[in-house]
Amino acid sequence: MSSLRFRVVEEAFKKKAVPVERPAERPSDYFAKYVFNREKMQHYLPRETYEALVDAIDNGNPLNREIADTVASGMKQWAIEMGVTHYTHWFHPLTDGTAEKHDAFVEHDGKGGLVEEFSGKLLIQQEGDASSFPNGGIRNTFEARGYSAWDPSSPAFIVGDTLCIPTVFISYTGESLDYKAPLLKSIDAVGKAALDVCHYFDPNVTKVIPYLGWEQEYFLVDEGLYAARPDLLLTGRTLMGHESSKNQQLEDHYFGAIPMRVTAFMQELEIESLKLGIPVKTRHNEVAPNQFELAPIYEECNLANDHNQVIMELMRRIARRHGFRVLLHEKPFKGVNGSGKHNNWSLGTNTGVPLMAPAKTPQGNLQFVTFLVNVMMAVYKYNGLLKASISSATNAHRLGANEAPPAIISIFLGSQMTQVLDDLENSSEDTIISLNDKMGVKLNISQIPELLIDNTDRNRTSPFAFTGNRFEFRAVGSSANCASAMIALNSAVAYQLKQFKQAVDAKISGGTEKEKAIVTVLREYIKESKPIRFDGNGYSEAWKEEAQKRGLDCETSIPLIFDAYLHPESVKMFSAVGVMSDVELEARNEVKWETYTKKIQIEARVMGDLALNHILPVATRYQSMLLDTVCKVQTVFDPEEADRISAKDRDIIRHIAYHTSEIQEKVQAMVDARKQANRIENEREKAIAYHNTVAPKIDEVRYHIDKLELMVDNQMWPLPKYRELLFVR
Ligand code: ADP
Ligand code: MG
Repeated sequence: MSSLRFRVVEEAFKKKAVPVERPAERPSDYFAKYVFNREKMQHYLPRETYEALVDAIDNGNPLNREIADTVASGMKQWAIEMGVTHYTHWFHPLTDGTAEKHDAFVEHDGKGGLVEEFSGKLLIQQEGDASSFPNGGIRNTFEARGYSAWDPSSPAFIVGDTLCIPTVFISYTGESLDYKAPLLKSIDAVGKAALDVCHYFDPNVTKVIPYLGWEQEYFLVDEGLYAARPDLLLTGRTLMGHESSKNQQLEDHYFGAIPMRVTAFMQELEIESLKLGIPVKTRHNEVAPNQFELAPIYEECNLANDHNQVIMELMRRIARRHGFRVLLHEKPFKGVNGSGKHNNWSLGTNTGVPLMAPAKTPQGNLQFVTFLVNVMMAVYKYNGLLKASISSATNAHRLGANEAPPAIISIFLGSQMTQVLDDLENSSEDTIISLNDKMGVKLNISQIPELLIDNTDRNRTSPFAFTGNRFEFRAVGSSANCASAMIALNSAVAYQLKQFKQAVDAKISGGTEKEKAIVTVLREYIKESKPIRFDGNGYSEAWKEEAQKRGLDCETSIPLIFDAYLHPESVKMFSAVGVMSDVELEARNEVKWETYTKKIQIEARVMGDLALNHILPVATRYQSMLLDTVCKVQTVFDPEEADRISAKDRDIIRHIAYHTSEIQEKVQAMVDARKQANRIENEREKAIAYHNTVAPKIDEVRYHIDKLELMVDNQMWPLPKYRELLFVR
């Protein structure tokens, strides 16, 4: 009897919503209570320091040591008033989470006592042992130190008793060892390149900012059930489990009433997020049972990404207070939808003009179309790279499965924008005349309707969709660091805009009038980038064939998809925009391959363990019960009748025997494949071996276990079943 499973199910059923204490103030009052934002800077810093800091934040100008000391002292004062005792440099290593090492503010006071200390030096920079984080071989042991350096553009915040200072993590030789350093460089690169292009239209713009609005999908599972599933505990997903008779087919979960226990979790999560300055706005049930989504108002890309990292951690912590575990894995359950993290991305100017949205003037619309078409070109040229940027062992379960995204990157534009671009493409030379000349405007771009695309025009199968005022990169995985996708996208767009500028400038210096030069280049781009445009069903087989014909990257093997980072065009692009060097790209790919291998390796081990120690013993015990019955029937009835009575049981016995022996064989084959792959030294080759030989075996073993689940006595089955994991709450 599997008493554990029944006990946890019973307990989960009895759990009531944990009451959430709602603050008396309004959200706008407690928003950013724990953030050292401009308001607090102004309050705690002398005026010149405040101004220097704001200048550093807005314009990237360096801060001198003296200013840093004053900032540190103001920050410390605020933090101590908030009851804080420790501080940490908070960074994003190349793992699934963030890293922090806490130090207390205390120092000796020289009189036998202690004093709270925090200097500019400690604020600005700290040493850390880089060799303990994934670094792809950049850190040899003799230079094992890296350092974290303050990122003033993301404000410090308080979690519990600790002041968290967002930092980049780099090696002593200057290579990035994290996500934030290249993200900041890519933000800078795309900002500068876009600014240059903006100046064709408006010389008063001084800064262009990339924005990110992420939508985070996740599952909640009762904590007791979770604990009874070693696969969830160790790999973040269920490696086995037969589909529940009911899952998402009634389509009754999406936007459905949110269960009470979940509502309480969400309320607390929102309150805590708001206190941390994260502008959370939207919450709803997702398509799969026990799947939910959370989205904030979009923010500047770097800050939005920090906030996403903070919120994932917050979700884990708060879920536990409500007796849940949050699953951020892309595919925790087979047969129901997985989780993504849509990255809504756009560019905007410091003068408040959105660059991915239709405008009121012909001039503004030419600017809009310029950016739209350049993004299309960038996505077209770097579609393989963009796919690599969202690829991982865990997101692989979504890629190519029948849910967004397909393993091919394409752009959905919608009918209206398609029409606008078609008109532009087919316009004749003489329609391209000055947009300032009202009489001369003949192009459709002069009157793009402001409300571009209504919800019915949305294509859910597209991995990269234009949604009226932004692009929505939907292929990002739910557990990913958004930075990976944003680094690739910002960099590719930056590079593209630089090339656009060169092409237009060349025409202008050849005597072509500005608008005409712009439109001529755009027209070439529209033609060239056509293969990336696809408004049809991205899940269909026909699209796969078509995409192949169009020359889009159709690779589905994750280790091979990673190669896109090292293609000569990618290396050239990343270095041209100053985001990553070839050394960094190579090192980071080593990390990607290694991580891929390790994830599959862990899954294979857990699978082997569960199959041999949890499933097989139960299956054989049940089989022997049946054998017992068959024998007993024989002693009671005459042989002919006995045969008839136990025919079905004999069948089941045979089936169990078949599946158990298959499991034994397949587990052995999986172990052998692993051993062989482990002998490979080269990380890329090893990852390929894991992909080709180990990963498929996990699914093969699963097949037989899932069959057994349907045969073996429900009372004996040791692991909580899908119906329990997905519907009990
Ligand atoms: P949907 O589910 O319809 O895609 P949501 O409301 O769940 O929409 O999420 C949309 C996300 O896009 C939000 O984070 C929102 O702030 C963000 N967003 C809206 N406009 C922009 C923009 N111009 N640039 C970047 N993000 C944006
Ligand atoms: Mg949404």
